[in-house]
Amino acid sequence: MTHGFDTLQVHAGARPDPATGARQTPIYQTTAYVFRDADHAAALFNLQEVGYIYSRLTNPTVAALQERVATLEGGAGAVCCSSGHAAQIMALFPLMGPGLNIVASTRAYGGTITQFSQTIKRFGWSCKFVDFDDLGAVEAAIDDNTRAVFCESIANPGGYITDLDAIAAIADKAGLPLIVDNTSATPYLCRPIEHGATLVVHSLTKYMTGNGTVTGGAVIDSGTFDWSASGKFPSLSEPEPAYHGLKFHETFGSLAFTFHSIAIGLRDLGMTMNPQGAHYTLMGIETLSLRMQRHVENAQRVAAWLENHPAVERVTYAGLPSSPYNDRVAKICPNGAGGLFTVALKGGYESCTKFVDALQIFSHVANLGDARSLVIHSASTTHRQLSEEQQIAAGAAPNVVRISIGIEDPEDLIADLDQALAQAG
Ligand SMILES: *Cc1c(COP(=O)(O)O)cnc(C)c1O
Repeated sequence: MTHGFDTLQVHAGARPDPATGARQTPIYQTTAYVFRDADHAAALFNLQEVGYIYSRLTNPTVAALQERVATLEGGAGAVCCSSGHAAQIMALFPLMGPGLNIVASTRAYGGTITQFSQTIKRFGWSCKFVDFDDLGAVEAAIDDNTRAVFCESIANPGGYITDLDAIAAIADKAGLPLIVDNTSATPYLCRPIEHGATLVVHSLTKYMTGNGTVTGGAVIDSGTFDWSASGKFPSLSEPEPAYHGLKFHETFGSLAFTFHSIAIGLRDLGMTMNPQGAHYTLMGIETLSLRMQRHVENAQRVAAWLENHPAVERVTYAGLPSSPYNDRVAKICPNGAGGLFTVALKGGYESCTKFVDALQIFSHVANLGDARSLVIHSASTTHRQLSEEQQIAAGAAPNVVRISIGIEDPEDLIADLDQALAQAG
């Protein structure tokens, strides 16, 4: 039986609590689960039976959320983790090893650029950043040591839309998984697996929870990649020494990646999502489509108004006919171009800092995807660690402010922007 998105966002993964009949998914604030007997315990540890052992690995509240996000993304399975950044490490971990690399888009969340350009080097991994609008450059960057291609569906901070089908075709030809960060779009606006993505990662911190209460992440597996085809992914295709020689792909098929992520990723990296966070995120997702519709409507109106303001040099919203990404909306994000974009001010860096300080409804914070409207001057904050060249490539030049449009009354948002632009000079 298939249901529509609005039904699934409320029901997928959740059922009345078997112990009490509670209709809403309870917060299982619990660490360990009693084995029926020694044979049951052994079967669980052998992954011959699915059940609860210890909440670093699995927890009933987190499991409900995992099933819900897997369903909404159209994946075979999902694993939740402690943050969006944890999800990125969890997605790469089974694929990578010392000396191996990934090819990633220059247009990405600032923290992702830092994680991929600096921190993963400690594991002996590396990343080649490429302009993903230049398909030839993406193809050329892939070498024998590449193990994944990584991009965002709606890319932070500019709200640029990636041509996922074209990138997936390149990854596919090279026999590599495509990992898509779908944080800014959410599965309501974009379903990367339908465009060829192998894995989808999320910062659940943003639109999925939707109100700035949770730090969380998820990795969703399409279940369609053949991990055994090339010999490039031995953790999944060969006997895994970290799990007494179990062959994950042979044993679990389309759930190989998800089982590996739980049995080894969460077991040994410990980036576990907490049950309380999972509960808030489940509640947030119940209204995902309603909120995203309003985010899109408001963003469309505010972006169009800003584009005509004399203090504004440029607005990057892909929902505007002036955007070079406008023709990708119908194909990649048929329900709208999201709620995130940047505005470049003619007055430069100084004007931007005055502008963010003068806003009253909009808050100046390092977050996005909240019910509240938010701004950040990326060059002086999230993208501060980057060179000016990297800032420009990432769409976060010094005269650029990133705007995350909330679900307030659009007239109030426009009035607030108007008075702040007047003060910014
Ligand atoms: C916020 C964000 C991340 C990181 O997520 P955290 O939950 O903050 O760790 C990754 N990618 C994108 C697109 C984000 O917006």
